[in-house]
Amino acid sequence: MTVSINLKRIVDDSYSIQIGPLPEINFEGKVAVLTNPKVAGLHLHTLLSRISAKEVYVITIPDGEHYKTLETIEFILDRMFDHRLNRKSLLVAFGGGVIGDMGGFSASLYNRGIDFIQIPTTLLSQVDASVGGKTGINNRYGKNLIGAFHQPRAVYIDPSFLKTLPSREFGAGVAEIVKMAVTFNAPFFEWLELHDLREGDNLLVAIKKAVETKAAVVEEDEKEQGLRAALNYGHTFGHVIENETKYETYLHGESVAIGMVMANELACECGLMERSEAERVKALLERYELPLSYPITDIEKFYQAFFLDKKSADSAITFILPRGIGGVEITDKIEADTVKKILTMFKG
Ligand code: NAD
Ligand code: MG
Repeated sequence: MTVSINLKRIVDDSYSIQIGPLPEINFEGKVAVLTNPKVAGLHLHTLLSRISAKEVYVITIPDGEHYKTLETIEFILDRMFDHRLNRKSLLVAFGGGVIGDMGGFSASLYNRGIDFIQIPTTLLSQVDASVGGKTGINNRYGKNLIGAFHQPRAVYIDPSFLKTLPSREFGAGVAEIVKMAVTFNAPFFEWLELHDLREGDNLLVAIKKAVETKAAVVEEDEKEQGLRAALNYGHTFGHVIENETKYETYLHGESVAIGMVMANELACECGLMERSEAERVKALLERYELPLSYPITDIEKFYQAFFLDKKSADSAITFILPRGIGGVEITDKIEADTVKKILTMFKG
């Protein structure tokens, strides 16, 4: 299965996303594979058996969001210089979204930009992080604040890597799939209600539909001037929850699941969504054991934290609200009182 992505303004940057068994990677120059010890232990032998190149180097960095820093980027670049990679070399990012974001960013920096290939190995990175060309790192001011738009040459999505993924990580990826279905694709949502992603070929089909949905949005709005922001449905609330819980209690996708439930309540209050639709979203998330609620202790503090989100301009909070199932509204016109009324429903 192949989904092609055609960026309107930067024709050169069009590339293909292949979904299915990992293809052979034949390359004349040098290849550096970026990965971490966990992914390497489980799957590196499979990847290496598929690469034939002049020389292949493996660069391993510690596992975890905690290491998604400028320091690690410097470490990666140093190894690339040690191995004397050049403009014609290729970097292969092999792992979850953390590896993808750092691999892409390193590739964008080395010699002012070399080619890279994404081989995502988590569900979240297969349906979301590997598609769209955003790369970057965190710093003390927040997440993903430093980075570049650097499109990969290709993305190879092989769902068989997911067999070793822990179930919570699987659920976190499902949350992002549900996000795309609710905001952009009603038939896909209905399909998800009828098909269990843990059975048969359903996961392969869902990955393809999610990638197509995200690719269509990115094609429309590569640099997030408008529509692409809709992919942040559930994230406005989710980011506050992640911050309050210091990124320790929930996986990103789990906080997005709670955030979608909150956004749906707000959408119902604003007359954008039927209660029955909000219940259907909840039921779908629940099937994958995703959390649906979070005890807010301080409503005012939670509300003020919205202003720290980079999607919100200085004075107004931008909310991404579903318009029914399959539609979306990006708005900064919601009254503070309305938002606080919804937050009170979640008071712990
Ligand atoms: P992750 O990369 O930390 O991976 C989660 C865990 O799963 C890690 O411990 C990892 O080593 C492990 N793992 C990876 N593949 C595995 C496999 N096949 N079997 C068993 N374990 C495996 O997290 P993630 O959820 O993949 O990605 C989250 C990151 O992606 C965040 O940093 C986020 O900012 C970023 N992201 C980026 C974009 C984008 O557009 N660039 C979009 C969404 C998320
Ligand atoms: Mg996300």
